[in-house]
Amino acid sequence: MFENFVPLVRRSGGFKLLKERVIDKDFCTYCGACASFCEHIVLKGRPELVEECSLDFEDVVRCGEAGICHDVCPMTETDERKLEDTFLEGDRDPELGIVRTLTAGSRGVRGQDGGVVTCLLLAGLKNAFFECAIVALRTGGFRAEPSIAASPEEIQEAKGTKYMAAPMVSKLGEAIKEGKRRIAIVGTPCEIRAVRKLQLALLKEIEAIDIITIGLFCFENFDYDLLADKTRELLGLELGGAEKVQIRKGRFIVRSNGEERSCKVAALEDAIRTNCFYCDDFTARLADISVGSVGSPEGSSTVIIRSKKGEALFNLLEDFVSVKVEREELIKTSSLKKEKIKWGNDLPPALKR
Ligand SMILES: Cc1cc2nc3c(=O)[nH]c(=O)nc-3n(C[C@H](O)[C@H](O)[C@H](O)COP(=O)(O)OP(=O)(O)OC[C@H]3O[C@@H](n4cnc5c(N)ncnc54)[C@H](O)[C@@H]3O)c2cc1C
Ligand code: SF4
Ligand code: SF4
Ligand code: SF4
Repeated sequence: MFENFVPLVRRSGGFKLLKERVIDKDFCTYCGACASFCEHIVLKGRPELVEECSLDFEDVVRCGEAGICHDVCPMTETDERKLEDTFLEGDRDPELGIVRTLTAGSRGVRGQDGGVVTCLLLAGLKNAFFECAIVALRTGGFRAEPSIAASPEEIQEAKGTKYMAAPMVSKLGEAIKEGKRRIAIVGTPCEIRAVRKLQLALLKEIEAIDIITIGLFCFENFDYDLLADKTRELLGLELGGAEKVQIRKGRFIVRSNGEERSCKVAALEDAIRTNCFYCDDFTARLADISVGSVGSPEGSSTVIIRSKKGEALFNLLEDFVSVKVEREELIKTSSLKKEKIKWGNDLPPALKR
């Protein structure tokens, strides 16, 4: 992957800069993009350098502008307009980003909401739209772990939302190294942003690599241990034993042993990952298709198609049953997320405008 690098005389930032500007400030979303193509970085709850970064030496090969790991991080400077122009095609909505179609509905698969993500992945795999999909499996209680799914069974196994960070983008490098060329990836908006930055920085010259991105709406994500403590304290339930966890209409709902208990999401503020207080993207503005529950009735999914590639994938869902989309509700939630940002002097580079 690194054969495109050119000789460098000056030293650039590299991992040191990424650590200073993102990791040490708790802005890291744990997307895994920095480690995806660099063997010097390992993910141990946060990215760490195992050996010295090549840029710590004089006159070594160049690694991107300020180091690939730094450049592809969703929390460093991002030219969102350039990414939209490169990957998306549709009308520009000031709140929702590029939109070709906004719809809602389901197709008879029980997932987290309307099961649309699982249906899209199953249809894409069946029709050879891609060879594999990067999904998040439930592991260790209600933790999430990224996985490369190459069969319908593996895709089905990943159904349901895990409100935890999983380094999804780290699997992109692994899939490519395994010889996969047409890959679908599901992720939160920050993860999709990292995929787009990787595509632009590293993968654009390699035509055979074809990536389709399915973004999930996302208001916040949680630290597992803190959320487990809160679930015990507020609901009297063990998060690890839950059958389903859902956030809907401002409530955190946990189903365990057939019983459902809930509290206000606002009561979980202390368990939210710090990086999520510095994120302005609710609807995964850079994805080929974005999917979430806000804007549609229970049991259905809201879907935003943002590219021709996304449209072609969505068109494979022949028996999709549409329902009315509550566009205003979607716009309200999206703008609320921006209002909740902890605006101040110490912002991640991605938010500095
Ligand atoms: C952290 C998080 C916060 C969310 N917050 C909101 C919100 O505030 N409002 C809203 O409307 N929707 C939110 N969503 C999206 C929503 O929960 C559903 O994922 C979405 O509606 C798709 O539902 P579905 O029935 O089509 O998914 P399913 O068919 O059940 O498929 C779910 C897919 O999501 C993937 N996935 C599950 N957990 C993760 C994870 N942690 N990281 C990456 N991929 C994952 C799985 O691999 C699976 O492929 C959030 C999702 C996540 C992961
Ligand atoms: S991606 Fe490049 S800059 Fe970053 S740690 Fe690896 S070698 Fe260093
Ligand atoms: S690329 Fe992802 S995992 Fe790496 S520092 Fe940035 S946010 Fe964290
Ligand atoms: S709120 Fe933003 S930073 Fe946090 S997980 Fe969701 S998309 Fe990523």
